[in-house]
Amino acid sequence: MVKICCIGAGYVGGPTMAIIALKCPSIEVAVVDISVSRISAWNSDQLPIYEPGLDEVVKQCRGKNLFFSTDVEKHVYEADIVFVSVNTPTKTRGLGAGKAADLTYWESAARMIADVSKSDKIVVEKSTVPVKTAEAIEKILTHNSKGIKYQILSNPEFLAEGTAIQDLLKPDRVLIGGRETSAGSKAVQTLKEVYAHWVPEDRILTTNLWSAELSKLAANAFLAQRISSVNAMSALCEATGADVSQVSFAVGKDSRIGPKFLNASVGFGGSCFQKDILNLVYICECNGLPEVAEYWKQVIKINDYQKSRFVNRIVSSMFNTVANKKIAILGFAFKKDTGDTRETPAIDVCKGLIGDKAQLSIYDPQVTEDQIERDLSMNKFDWDHPVHLQPASPSTTGGKKVQVVWDAYEAAKDAHGICILTEWDEFRKLDFQKIYESMQKPAFIFDGRSIIDVNKLRKIGFIVYSIGKPLDT
Ligand code: NAD
Repeated sequence: MVKICCIGAGYVGGPTMAIIALKCPSIEVAVVDISVSRISAWNSDQLPIYEPGLDEVVKQCRGKNLFFSTDVEKHVYEADIVFVSVNTPTKTRGLGAGKAADLTYWESAARMIADVSKSDKIVVEKSTVPVKTAEAIEKILTHNSKGIKYQILSNPEFLAEGTAIQDLLKPDRVLIGGRETSAGSKAVQTLKEVYAHWVPEDRILTTNLWSAELSKLAANAFLAQRISSVNAMSALCEATGADVSQVSFAVGKDSRIGPKFLNASVGFGGSCFQKDILNLVYICECNGLPEVAEYWKQVIKINDYQKSRFVNRIVSSMFNTVANKKIAILGFAFKKDTGDTRETPAIDVCKGLIGDKAQLSIYDPQVTEDQIERDLSMNKFDWDHPVHLQPASPSTTGGKKVQVVWDAYEAAKDAHGICILTEWDEFRKLDFQKIYESMQKPAFIFDGRSIIDVNKLRKIGFIVYSIGKPLDT
């Protein structure tokens, strides 16, 4: 029986391995992590991440050919193929701080693999890494090899949180990069055979190592660029009376452009886009390409501009001050169908409003109070006052700056304004008449995701701002 081990039981490692286990009953899959709490959650009924369809897959395979363990060394030792899916955040200090990828976790995983291995292995880069990382990993492994042979493959993951299971079951493509040697080709073939259990052959692409590594950074940069492009248009729409939904629709009908990823919003978030573009910028700079670096930097600049523009619009609409006004925040996750708040635009919007002394009442169906407390306490901006969180029950924020509640109606009660920051389906179905009646007047609504029917809400009596739409006059 082929044995696979995946180091890193996170948003990528967990779901990816669950699908391999589901589709390849003849393969034993172990997902290992140094985080005891994460592994015990994977072994419980409360999985550590929310992802539609994931529970069912895990329940079906766990204990049969899918195992979650903290015994990293044992499972690496036993494996034929070792996926490495550890986090690769942006470096916070030292050379390349604020841009370069921090490969500390990767390096320690590689050194551990070298330490414990007693047989030849295929090591697969599942994490998103800078182009040329495989060269560094090869050096670490071969210089510590004790005669063991390693083949490094790049197999970046293209899943999107919120649709991970569908993305994994029916990927647009699986990309495998390897050395163009006979041992390299053999390793590529071995990994191809794993995916061939369920992915059609024409969707499994093979390239050289560097193309595979760079393709992942390029894909994320292109996706984020589309969002920044439409968001830049949204600002121009508001200034001119054009409607960004109509512009997107018209532009997306061009088959050379296509309709996906053309929704204007308060900005992109998530753990990947910003980090990967910063990394791309750093790689360009290191390769003597400052103009190219500058080009990609603009994608992030527009994203930051969109978030601050949204906060400014809220404050200016509410008579230039939100001091002591209760504002309901609907949605905190960076997108719907996930509880992930990493780099969510909600953090910057909430911090901007608190900076203007607003009182926030936050509701998100999948985000916990602990996450919000951690995210808003980050020392990214200067604060007049520390953030205080308070559990659900009171209907006003009771003088506290931030309150987390478990119901959208509760969040909106007595509020002066509502901000929609995540496009959760349940927000589309809210009884806005009932909400309007429970709010202070005039009642404002700021839609950062373009999910509400602007005309309907204006008829109810709301003063409405929806990104990229003609303004209330
Ligand atoms: P994550 O933080 O959710 O998970 C990483 C896990 O690795 C953590 O649980 C951590 O404890 C574990 N880990 C770190 N060092 C370890 C070690 N030495 N031994 C064992 N476990 C270790 O991260 P993620 O969101 O799953 O992302 C993983 C990688 O995949 C990143 O490079 C990311 O850029 C990339 N990626 C993420 C997504 C996404 O949507 N989240 C999509 C595609 C690619």
